[in-house]
Amino acid sequence: MVKEQFREPHLSEKIDKISFGLQSGLDIRKQAHLNCVNFNLYEGTNHEASPYGVLDPKMGTSRKNQKCATCGKQIQDCPGHFGYLNLELPVFHSGYFRAVINILQSICKNCARLLLNPDERKKYSEILRQPNISYLRKKQLRKQILEQCVKKSACQFCHETNGQVKKSWMLEDNNLDPLVVYNLFKRIVDSDIPFFLMNPSVGRPEDLIITKLPVPPLCIRPSVVSELKSGTNEDDMTTKLIGIIQINQEIQLRGGNAPLKYLMRIWENLQTHVALYINSDLSGVNMENQKVKPTGRGIVQRLKGKQGRFRGNLSGKRVEFTGRTVISPDPNLPIDQVGIPVHVAKILTYPEW
Ligand SMILES: [Zn+2]
Ligand SMILES: [Zn+2]
Repeated sequence: MVKEQFREPHLSEKIDKISFGLQSGLDIRKQAHLNCVNFNLYEGTNHEASPYGVLDPKMGTSRKNQKCATCGKQIQDCPGHFGYLNLELPVFHSGYFRAVINILQSICKNCARLLLNPDERKKYSEILRQPNISYLRKKQLRKQILEQCVKKSACQFCHETNGQVKKSWMLEDNNLDPLVVYNLFKRIVDSDIPFFLMNPSVGRPEDLIITKLPVPPLCIRPSVVSELKSGTNEDDMTTKLIGIIQINQEIQLRGGNAPLKYLMRIWENLQTHVALYINSDLSGVNMENQKVKPTGRGIVQRLKGKQGRFRGNLSGKRVEFTGRTVISPDPNLPIDQVGIPVHVAKILTYPEW
């Protein structure tokens, strides 16, 4: 039988477009099947997963003999389900830190209005209304708007002085902590958001600050029963999530009457743990004086690089009936040519009509 190369999908609907946006705290809660609050992994004599822990079977299953508690299916058929984790205090996202600073520099820190004057506002809103603005042009516009805003010495609406924004990842020397920034960003009016080159229908500025964390399904972070010692070996992600729940509970239990300095320290610790969970290589962020040392792979490390999900697991692989060879430039060849082995060049065919 001749192999079918391509088949029209028998679907009544076709995907027209995909748009990317920011996931808000509400989105994270809506997609989740449970709120993880328990930092114990197992309990009882039968070594059962603790309810509301990060291994709760409502998030799916990673074992052959265990069914998912949400859809009742086995490991082959259950796609896995998300949980979520409520942070007691909001934290900065290491990947969005620069974007947060840029927005802060563009707004009044008292009334949260954009710092452009009416003429500049009119000029930029006309440019922004044009369809199909290229990525580079958008970047350039964002920079221009930011430069105009930074120059303003006072807000035209509430007349508050516009001071400088200090960039520090450390909460103790930040005048503006994540909670203040979150509440300020929530007050930004929808009509000001396009000037940050953001689309309010797919993400608002306050979504750049983390208030809730999605807890991924069990199948992507399986527990492995250890053959050497009794018990299980847990995935890096699971271990990191437990750490976050523990700090979260410390804030919950002691936060109310703890001295401010102590509270700021555990808050900063929470922020660092969340940041390392996302990206364990935080060379871009000032990590000096941090007691937490990066351990294990973060989400970013699972995705990027040669061993990552895209290049390592999803992109093309060698297949039968194809030739593979290194192609390379050569000092003996013109600049617009590459060399391939004679054998491949003689056999390689290309259909021409
Ligand atoms: Zn399921
Ligand atoms: Zn103002």
